[in-house]
Amino acid sequence: MLDLVIIGAAAAGSAAAVYAARRNLNFAVVAKDIGGEVALSGEVENWPGTIHTTGVELAQNFHAHMKSYQVQIDNGLEVTGITPTKNYHIVTAQDGNGQEKTYETKSVIIASGIHPRELKIPGERELKGRGVTYCTVCDGPLYRGKTTATVGAGNSALESVLMMSGIASQVYLITKYPDLPEAKGGFPKGEDILINKVKALPNVTVIYNAGTVHIVGTDAVSGLIYEDLASGARTELAVQGVMVHVGPIYLINK
Ligand SMILES: Cc1cc2nc3c(=O)[nH]c(=O)nc-3n(C[C@H](O)[C@H](O)[C@H](O)COP(=O)(O)OP(=O)(O)OC[C@H]3O[C@@H](n4cnc5c(N)ncnc54)[C@H](O)[C@@H]3O)c2cc1C
Repeated sequence: MLDLVIIGAAAAGSAAAVYAARRNLNFAVVAKDIGGEVALSGEVENWPGTIHTTGVELAQNFHAHMKSYQVQIDNGLEVTGITPTKNYHIVTAQDGNGQEKTYETKSVIIASGIHPRELKIPGERELKGRGVTYCTVCDGPLYRGKTTATVGAGNSALESVLMMSGIASQVYLITKYPDLPEAKGGFPKGEDILINKVKALPNVTVIYNAGTVHIVGTDAVSGLIYEDLASGARTELAVQGVMVHVGPIYLINK
């Protein structure tokens, strides 16, 4: 019986593994790959303490750090189920050939990452990385002095706009909710402090009751079309960046 199974071997999973090892826990890391999103990140120049590295190098360092503690890393396995019993959990995983492996463990850390939810509208996939981003913290600085639109109505969208208001010259925030008290002024799940800050910013225009229907551009984003949900009228905004913050999809739901 293990003390712990950690699902995922990227930023979160490897950090958990280092801490578990330092506490002498009897545990295993089970992961489809090592490095996760970091390994896909190209050049990395905002990792504190390291002026320049690459995503692949950083992922290799995660691996080396875990290995320095002799962590058992079962790489290439996809966790397909976690079954709770009265006193422990059974974690089931499969390799690429469908071969199953099970783990009995007292506890599980799910560090399997998230995927940003897509709008699923024309132009979004085609222009991803060419003006469409799901990570304002990562890509926001590329839009200095430009016009951007953030789509969403939660705290991530509000935080995206707070950040972009200091970088872009003009920022639109598109929420599908109306500016009514029962919809908390357009942001039903937003924190009051963020909502108030965003609404007070001089270079931010909030567009309420609007569904984003199209991201426009050929080589790069040049505009965004939204539809007024009451009248159906469509309007095109000239923007160079679109920040999509409409919630996460968790990779493991059970
Ligand atoms: C191009 C790019 C640039 C980025 N730039 C920045 C930036 O500048 N600043 C910033 O803060 N963030 C940035 N990010 C985001 C950052 O990389 C992620 O937030 C972070 O790496 C997430 O780490 P994680 O460990 O939570 O999950 P992930 O990196 O998603 O890793 C998930 C892990 O879980 C494993 N896994 C998933 N499902 C299963 C399963 N069923 N069974 C077994 N294993 C599973 C995967 O194999 C992987 O090991 C960027 C991302 C990308 C792609």
